[in-house]
Amino acid sequence: MNRFDTYSIKWRLFVYLIIFVAIPVAMLWFFQTVFLEQFYTAIKVNDVESSVDTIAQNIENQDVGALIEQVAHVNDVSVRVYEQNSGQIYAYDFGPESGVPLDEASVRDYFERAQNNGGTLLMLFDKPPAIDGLSGDEFEGEFPPRFKRMGKSIVCARVVDLPDGNKRLILINALVTPVDATVRTLQIQLMYITLIMVALSLFLALLMSRRISKPIIQTTAAAKLLAKGDYGTVFDAHGYLEIAELNKTLNFAASEMSKVERLRHELIANVSHDLRTPLTMITGYAEMMRDIPGENTPENVQIIIDESSRLSLLVSDMLDISRFQSGGQELHKIRFNITASVRGIMQRYSKLTEQDNYDISFEASGDAYVEADSGRIEQVVYNLINNAINYTGEDKKVIVRQTVEDGRVRIEITDTGAGIAAEDIPYIWDRYYRVDKTHKRAAIGSGLGLSIVRSILELHGAEYGVLSNPGEGSTFWFSLPLA
Ligand code: ADP
Repeated sequence: MNRFDTYSIKWRLFVYLIIFVAIPVAMLWFFQTVFLEQFYTAIKVNDVESSVDTIAQNIENQDVGALIEQVAHVNDVSVRVYEQNSGQIYAYDFGPESGVPLDEASVRDYFERAQNNGGTLLMLFDKPPAIDGLSGDEFEGEFPPRFKRMGKSIVCARVVDLPDGNKRLILINALVTPVDATVRTLQIQLMYITLIMVALSLFLALLMSRRISKPIIQTTAAAKLLAKGDYGTVFDAHGYLEIAELNKTLNFAASEMSKVERLRHELIANVSHDLRTPLTMITGYAEMMRDIPGENTPENVQIIIDESSRLSLLVSDMLDISRFQSGGQELHKIRFNITASVRGIMQRYSKLTEQDNYDISFEASGDAYVEADSGRIEQVVYNLINNAINYTGEDKKVIVRQTVEDGRVRIEITDTGAGIAAEDIPYIWDRYYRVDKTHKRAAIGSGLGLSIVRSILELHGAEYGVLSNPGEGSTFWFSLPLA
């Protein structure tokens, strides 16, 4: 569990939603309150500059007077135009308070300063600009009521050269209305908005978390039942795609677990049965030989020996299987002559051939080499030949054939027995699968032979299979690439 695992979905969602809400609200606070004045001033400055531009461009037109009036009205500014020599020629004030009634000296001053500044002078006054020859900046303490109302202002002076050599001064003045009251209103509104948003986030977090966590809680409860061994548990929580998929997966896991459980039961039953048969035989014969002196014959001893070796075969097969299944089995691959290996195995069967009239033959075109674990491949051949001998028909015929084709060597083991029904073929490779459930299999093999064969061949990446027609015998085969 890491540090964050202790927080429930509810609180997590709440935090995310709060973050989501905080960003726009913070932006609103900034733009609406902190920067409102700056924005407003910037817009005003822009208005004033564009007004000056428009008037300057049309200063020679006949109807500039009407244009000035229009500009003053639209942009909420006061406009004055002065001729250098003849004084004020146009004036328009949008309101009685906004005019800049300047004396001659101030007008001359603006003329000069604008000219020195490249023709245009833009000024921002925190206090009202000059009035009746007095600059607003010069006031200390109480302003006359007129100044108070005027507040901040922007003044733009532009000198325009006329073709006749005259100069005109356009003077524009705009008031920057105080925004304090607006800011206060906005602050109160934003406070309400913030509170409502936080409450809404909490409510939404609760609602969403309930929807999200309910099926999770349900799934957890079902999983706990499964962990206790109730393999019939059904995971049926739903509500959204992820949980539906999780439940589907858990249902699958539960069904697999129950299969494993069933297999485990079967395995124990099979193993104990298979172990008991030879053990009963050994104990029975040993007791008989102890109690009845005449029974202490080499034949009976041989039975004990046979049963013991069958036991050890069973145990070693079971060990092999468990090793293959846990993936702990490693192959020791070498390049070897598979033909010689099979021939060697055939030799070991020759005694059986003589004794019990088995007809076991080996057909090979020539020596073939493969790269594989020779011991394991021999185990495969042994198992397949043993099965063929055990299941072959009356004629006791077993044919082992080796062919080479397309860079692969193929080994086939054919018998003439009863064969295997098509529907059983896919299952014979499974552990303890018996085609004939009543077969006296215990007397023949461990029931693990083909399962071991399959594990070994799959580890080698070999191809393998069985061809069989019921009544006509079977051919088990596998093929490996030549080396
Ligand atoms: P077993 O010890 O029973 O032979 P295997 O795993 O070797 O176990 O074989 C599994 C089953 O496949 C056998 O019980 C038998 O029914 C069937 N089988 C295997 N080989 C042959 C064969 N050559 N002919 C007919 N059936 C076979």
